[in-house]
Amino acid sequence: MRASRFFVSTLKEAPSDAEIASHKLMMRAGMIKRLGSGIYSYMPMGLKIIRKVENIVREEMNRSGAVELLMPVVQPAELWQETGRWDKMGDELMRVKDRHGRDYAIQPTSEEVITDIARSELRSYRKLPVNFYHIQTKFRDERRPRFGLMRGREFTMKDAYSFDRDVDGLKKSYQIMYDAYVRIFARFGLQFRAVAADNGAIGGSGSHEFHVIASTGEDAIVYCPDSDYAANMEAAEALPLDATRAAPTQTMTKTATPGKAKCEAVAELLNIPLSTTIKSIVLTVEKAATEKEAASKQVWLLMLRGDHVLNEVKVSKIPGLAGYRFSTEEEIVEYFGTLPGYLGPINTKKPINVVADRTVANMHDFVTGANEADYHLTGVNWGRDLPEPTVVDLRNVVEGDPSPDGKGVLAIQRGIEVGHVFQLGTAYSEAMNATFLDENGKPQPLQMGCYGIGITRILGAAIEQNFDDKGIIWPSAIAPFEVVLCPMGYDRSEAVKSETDKLYAELQAAGVDVILDDRGERPGAMFADWELIGVPHRVVIGDRGLKDGQLEYQGRRDTEATSVPLAEIASFVK
Ligand code: ATP
Ligand code: MG
Ligand code: MG
Ligand code: MG
Repeated sequence: MRASRFFVSTLKEAPSDAEIASHKLMMRAGMIKRLGSGIYSYMPMGLKIIRKVENIVREEMNRSGAVELLMPVVQPAELWQETGRWDKMGDELMRVKDRHGRDYAIQPTSEEVITDIARSELRSYRKLPVNFYHIQTKFRDERRPRFGLMRGREFTMKDAYSFDRDVDGLKKSYQIMYDAYVRIFARFGLQFRAVAADNGAIGGSGSHEFHVIASTGEDAIVYCPDSDYAANMEAAEALPLDATRAAPTQTMTKTATPGKAKCEAVAELLNIPLSTTIKSIVLTVEKAATEKEAASKQVWLLMLRGDHVLNEVKVSKIPGLAGYRFSTEEEIVEYFGTLPGYLGPINTKKPINVVADRTVANMHDFVTGANEADYHLTGVNWGRDLPEPTVVDLRNVVEGDPSPDGKGVLAIQRGIEVGHVFQLGTAYSEAMNATFLDENGKPQPLQMGCYGIGITRILGAAIEQNFDDKGIIWPSAIAPFEVVLCPMGYDRSEAVKSETDKLYAELQAAGVDVILDDRGERPGAMFADWELIGVPHRVVIGDRGLKDGQLEYQGRRDTEATSVPLAEIASFVK
C-alpha cells in the first residue's frame, strides 16, 4: 500500500469526549469517526485492523470445526417474545417498527434466530453436534456508551452457538470453543486471562470470560499466581467473613478530614455506622413506589475518597433513581462521576435499608467517621464494634486471601472483557421448543452453548494494553500495517526512490503488510504519524545511509534507530 493512495488522517488533539487512551488514540490516528453516541464509522485505517482481527477469529473458528453463516441484524419481535427476552431485555434492546406497524429487534445477540434455525434444521441426532457462528453487527442501547469502540452501541461481535444431543456433548463443544479462544487471543499477541464467570440469570453450568489485562479495565479479576484459579469478581468465591482473617484491633488514627463536618452531621443524624471503605458495591437503595415516597425518603449518598468528601448526591432528587439498583461499579461511576471510597445513607426519620450484596471491601479496612473531631476509627468490625448495617451476601475477596484451591493467595488485576463462553443448556431450546429426534425416535431438547467475541472492542483493549506517549503500539498480528517505509526525499533522490521501491516490492512479495509513505511529509511529521498509528516496524531510507549500503530500522518499542545493511533488513521486520 502506498500512503498517498490510502487514507491517512491524523489529529494533534483528541476530541474532548475521549476519556481513555484507546479512545483518544484511535480518534487521533484517524481509525474511527463518531457519528452519534456509541456509533462510529470505521475509517480505512481502523477497518484494516478490524479485518485482521476478524480473520484470526474466522481462521480459528473454522479450525475448531465451527461453520459460518450470517443471520439478520433486524429480527422479528415474535422470536424474542417466545423466549421472553422482548420484555426482559428492557431498554438495551433496540426496537423498530416496519411500515405495517410490526415490531422488530435489532440484534444484540442471536440466540433466538439460531434456535429458530435449529428447530427446523437440526431434527435428527445425526445432524449433531454442530456449531454455527457469524461475525455480524450488533446493537445494544447501552445506558452509557463510552470509550469509543470499547462500549459502543453499534459494534461487531463474533457469536457462535453450539448444539449437542446431551450435556456431555455440550461440555465437549464448550471445551473446543474455550481452546479456540485461547488460540485466538494468543495469536492477537495480547496478554489475557480466562476467568470463571457467573452464569447469571440464564442458569445452566459453566461460563468463562476472556479478559485482556489492562490497568484501565472496567472489571476486576481475581486469580492465584500459583495455580490455575481465576474468576471474575462476581464469581470469585468469597470467604466467609472473619473465617480466615484475624480480628483486627481497633485503633484511633489521626486523619486529615476535609469532610469532617459532613461526617459529623451524618453521625448525628443517624445512630448507625456511616462510612465504609468500599471499592465496589451493589446497592439497593430502599425501593420507593412513587416519586412522592422517594422524595420523603431523603436518601443521600456521600462519595468520599479517604476522608475527603468528593461529592454528595441526594438520591431522591434524581429522577428514577430512588429504588435504583446499582449493579456494577460502572453504573455508580456513571451517576456519581467517581467510585465511592465511602458511602453513607442518611434518613432523618428511619434508617435506610442499604443492601450491599457484592463488595470487594475488606471488612477490616472499614473506617468509620466522626467518632471524635479529627479522629476516625479504623479496623472496625461490624457487629463487634458497631451495630451491623443491613449488609447481605458480602463477597469480599481481597488481595492476599487464600485461594479456594488452597494453592496460594489471591491477587486482583483489572481486565477488559473481550470474550465470553457460556453453557446455555436447554434454556432457549425449551422456550422455543427446539428438539431433535434421538435414536429411538424420541424428541429431546437441544443442548446449547453460546460463545461471543467483541471484535471491535478488541481494538480498544489491545491499545489499553499497548501504548506510550507517542501513540499506539500494535502487536504485529493486528497492526494496520506491519512495516512502514519512510523514504527521505522520495521525490528528490533517485537512489532513495529506487531502493525504497525495491524494498517495497520485496516485502510485498514476502507477504509482509507494508506501507510506503510517499506523501512527501517532513520526516518529523511522518515519524510522528506512524508512531501514533502504531506500526510495529519502521524502515528509513536515506541517501546518507545508502552510501554505506545501510538503512535505519526502528521497532516501535525501541528508543533509537539501528543501522542495518540492506540485505539484512527483511529479517528485522518479520
Ligand atoms: P459487558 O459486561 O462489557 O457489558 P457483556 O457481558 O454484556 O459485556 P456479552 O453479552 O458477553 O457482553 O457479549 C460478548 C462480547 O461482546 C463481550 O465479551 C464483549 O467483548 C462484547 N461486547 C459486549 N457489549 C459491547 C459493547 N457495548 N461494545 C463493544 N463490545 C461489546
Ligand atoms: Mg453488557
Ligand atoms: Mg459482562
Ligand atoms: Mg459477557
